[in-house]
Amino acid sequence: MVERIVRQVALEYLGRGSSKGNVSELVVQTSSRHMHVCREDMDVLFGPGAELTFDRPLFQEGNFAAKESVTIVGPRSRIISNLRILGPMRKQSQVELAFTDAIMLGFNDLPIRLSGDIKGTPGAIIIGPKGVVELKEGVIRAAIHAHMSPAEAAHFGVKQGELMKLRVGGPSGVTFNNVHVRIDPTSRLNIHMDTDEANACGLHLTKDVELFK
Ligand SMILES: [Zn+2]
Repeated sequence: MVERIVRQVALEYLGRGSSKGNVSELVVQTSSRHMHVCREDMDVLFGPGAELTFDRPLFQEGNFAAKESVTIVGPRSRIISNLRILGPMRKQSQVELAFTDAIMLGFNDLPIRLSGDIKGTPGAIIIGPKGVVELKEGVIRAAIHAHMSPAEAAHFGVKQGELMKLRVGGPSGVTFNNVHVRIDPTSRLNIHMDTDEANACGLHLTKDVELFK
């Protein structure tokens, strides 16, 4: 407790927003529902050879929001249209929903998974402007996670796949206990949560965030 207070005071003294040695400022972001698409599904949904159109960059180098979107049809035949596609293309298609989105579509116990870990997850019908794909699996709630570089992981004393805690302050403060660590040399310190998690803690109303073991 004392250590945390000291660290908090020290951080405030150093000023949030400045880089501290090997560790970047903690950026916590909300990830809205979206889809990642593979080459084969892209061909069906948008036409053979179609490419994603760059709309805006995402925080992690090389990732971007595309202009393309699709419609997802859930198990109760309810739909969400304007499901945005994030690039670049991946080996497997995947849909990431917040729990509210999932329940609305009829997925009442959608598994929480890390991106890419889709074995045994539910599928859905995806409708694009040029065709329809039936995903056999790949619909998930994305687990809250922290991207970081190896140097940042060393600073926190954590390894790939470990869990950390994220404390969000402010009037509706929440501490998330299962923040998955994802280490990559190309990553910058950055936490991704979904819209339900962000709304629950009023993320947009506070700058008081702290990641710890
Ligand atoms: Zn992420």
